[in-house]
Amino acid sequence: MLNENELIALKSELQTPKKIVIVSHRNPDGDAIGSSLGLLHFLKELKHEVCFISPNEYPDFLAWMPNVSNTIIFEKETDKANELLKSSDYIFTLDFNALHRTGEQMEKALQSLTIPMIMIDHHQEPDSYPLYTFSETSYGSTCEMIYDFINALGFNQLINKEIATCLYVGITTDSGSFRFPKTTAKTHTCVADLISKGINNSEIHNLLFDNASYSRLQLLGRALQNLTLLKEYKASYITLSQEELDTYKYKKGDTEGIVNYGLSLEGINMTAIFIENKEEGIIKISFRSQGNVDVNQFARKYFNGGGHINAAGGKSFLSLEETVKQFIAILAEEKK
Ligand code: 5GP
Ligand code: MN
Repeated sequence: MLNENELIALKSELQTPKKIVIVSHRNPDGDAIGSSLGLLHFLKELKHEVCFISPNEYPDFLAWMPNVSNTIIFEKETDKANELLKSSDYIFTLDFNALHRTGEQMEKALQSLTIPMIMIDHHQEPDSYPLYTFSETSYGSTCEMIYDFINALGFNQLINKEIATCLYVGITTDSGSFRFPKTTAKTHTCVADLISKGINNSEIHNLLFDNASYSRLQLLGRALQNLTLLKEYKASYITLSQEELDTYKYKKGDTEGIVNYGLSLEGINMTAIFIENKEEGIIKISFRSQGNVDVNQFARKYFNGGGHINAAGGKSFLSLEETVKQFIAILAEEKK
């Protein structure tokens, strides 16, 4: 948590209306959108002028979230977004800890500003750009950090159904529905409080997970057929080529969660999914692991990425085939 003095200073700043911009990472997930909108609704309760800028589009499966349609997409509405950033009093950066995570275009815009920033994030090795940093890797989600942040400011009573709904989304998605190791008694206490604020938790699960299009399930089927076992390395991987994505009418968010199947195999402690993105000229990679197998280090060292010990991501500029070859060669090298 922020220290006592920082909390006092911030609370006093927040006593008069301010212009506040909230920023999430590129390709925002449930936790990025949930924490951003949760904080947005909270700051609106405190009568601030708040907007949320996402570097690029949010996924369809989050389109039902309260106020998400007011999100400003930096890469589409660049001038408007820059105006808002420049005229703001504070910028909250949520669910990431290095400005390059907002993508090349937005990174430059943020770097050119001298406006005080506040980071709330649970990834490893935070950069030092913010005035205030609440960075803590023991948290399973940024949403749970926002909940603690609101409480630390003494505003629990302001958490309404909208705020609670948004925070519940990120806690649920980042914890794999409360099953990943960072899910604590505190997480459940937080969720109990959010439910007591009137959220419809069961319906939120339906909206998040039981709302797939037919083509999305077909894409999942394709991915599972592509699942390859690397028994000697206790690893597995999935590939999805651009052609396969096109065949199954891929929409943003459709591949969310597929990587976890590779880890659900018996005897496997590390998995990866390689997703071709012809438009960006990259292979987007997600890694998952169990126990002390550190995919954050792996992604940082070999694939221009990072994340957490058991969940990380990165990218490759080689072809899909070459990237997979490189992945296997690294595993062979690391085993030596
Ligand atoms: P996912 O595989 O779900 O996209 O991401 C898993 C975790 O790794 C998330 O916490 C995410 O923020 C992080 N991550 C994903 N891609 C990248 C990347 O390219 N760079 C860095 N530094 N972290 C990433
Ligand atoms: Mn997160």
